Amino acid sequence: MLCFFENVGFCIIAIIFKLEMDPNGGKKNLYNKLSKSVAMTRLRSESFKRKTISFYKYVIINNPISFRDNLYLKWNLLGIFGRIYIAKEGINAQISVPEHNFSSFEDNLNTIKELKNVPLKIAIEDDGKSFFKLAIKVRKKIVADGLNEKDYDVTNVGRHLDAKEWNKEIDNGATVIDMRNHYESEIGRFMGAICPQTETFKEELPLVKEMLKGKESDSILLYCTGGIRCEKASAYLKNSGFKNVSQLHGGVIDYVRQVKQNKKIENKFIGKNFVFDERLSERISDDIISSCHQCSCACDKHTNCKNVNCNLLFLQCTKCEKRYSGCCSNECAEILNIPDFKKKELRKGKNNKRRFYRHKKVNLKT
Ligand SMILES: [Zn+2]
Ligand SMILES: [Zn+2]
Repeated sequence: MLCFFENVGFCIIAIIFKLEMDPNGGKKNLYNKLSKSVAMTRLRSESFKRKTISFYKYVIINNPISFRDNLYLKWNLLGIFGRIYIAKEGINAQISVPEHNFSSFEDNLNTIKELKNVPLKIAIEDDGKSFFKLAIKVRKKIVADGLNEKDYDVTNVGRHLDAKEWNKEIDNGATVIDMRNHYESEIGRFMGAICPQTETFKEELPLVKEMLKGKESDSILLYCTGGIRCEKASAYLKNSGFKNVSQLHGGVIDYVRQVKQNKKIENKFIGKNFVFDERLSERISDDIISSCHQCSCACDKHTNCKNVNCNLLFLQCTKCEKRYSGCCSNECAEILNIPDFKKKELRKGKNNKRRFYRHKKVNLKT
């Protein structure tokens, strides 16, 4: 008996000691530390199907850190993977949910007062391999906009249009602005849309305002992937004096869902819809509107340069993929073959600014 109590006492001391010594402050169950390759192998060997969905909500979250931790514990148990951003201004989530846990996931959402009845957008082209682990991050904002509070009023956003209303406005000659970045609109867009050649949303907002000068009374239509960026963009433009601003409700993802469901609605989106997960895009129409950044043949397949030190996002056809071993240049292809420790040495102290391909700034042909 004494021995039992001694053991219990020892265990308690050991647990306290472990908690104190844990570098994560006892939070090791709140983060997934698996390497990408291990996580990918685990995902590939799964015997069940997954559903890729996304949602966002601008809602005041008073304590983003504890909100995050609670969500992580629950969603990890349900086997959910994905990338989720939480800030005081709300939540933005792109996730894949095991099909057998989908109703438990929906029940869980409805128990959280901030997320009750949040509309979910379901992916169009889905192999269930969109994410390979769960990452929930607390950020200053869910969409980095570079704006001050006085630049926009969240309660004064643009009119939300469904697919039918959207098409009608386009037919009536409205000005259509793509609120996404250049690498997104390059492979797919609404016919006739103005596509600012920017790398970030933050950069795009003041540029769009400038481009629209003189059109303060015109009908302005804004769209993005899922609608989240347009909530801010429309509020910003309205605050800047534009009177007739509308936005595509649910973004391209929901537009396509409506078009597929109702054959009477014409599809005006051509090419592919860029998405922020492992799939990189969803095909919407058969048109290929962009070209390979290396040989200029028709191509709309994005890839990240296989040299991890570079990781440049660019368009590469299958021929060039073979020729450059999946890299953006011969130089990167050479680095691919050197040992990992040498790659690390090369990376030390260097800040990789070439994130995306730009026709004029980066010449990929070597
Ligand atoms: Zn090519
Ligand atoms: Zn490269």
